[in-house]
Amino acid sequence: MKGLAKMVWDFAEALKKHGNDGFKAVTVAQYADRMSKCTSCEHFTERQSCGLCGCRMPVKARWRTSICADNPPRWVNTNGKGKEGANTDSSDGV
Ligand code: SF4
Repeated sequence: MKGLAKMVWDFAEALKKHGNDGFKAVTVAQYADRMSKCTSCEHFTERQSCGLCGCRMPVKARWRTSICADNPPRWVNTNGKGKEGANTDSSDGV
C-alpha cells in the first residue's frame, strides 16, 4: 500500500487525466467488466479499494482514463490512449 501523500498526488494526477478526457465515463458494460475483475482480484479489499494503488475502485473504474494498478494490468483505459500511464508509477491512482 502506498503512503497517504503518494495516494493524494496520484489522485490529483488521475483527476487531471480524467478532466483532460472531458470527465467521460466508461459504458455500463465496461464498468461491469472492470468491477468484475477487481472484485475477483486478490488485491481487492473489504473497503472496495485496490491494495496496490489504494484507489476506491467503484470510482476509479468509472473513468475512461483509469487503468488497473497490476502489472500487467488486468484492464486498461478506454480513451484510445493505449496503455499510457500503465503501472510503472501508479499515477493513475484514485
Ligand atoms: S485495479 Fe487491478 S490490481 Fe487493483 S483490485 Fe482492480 S484488478 Fe486488482
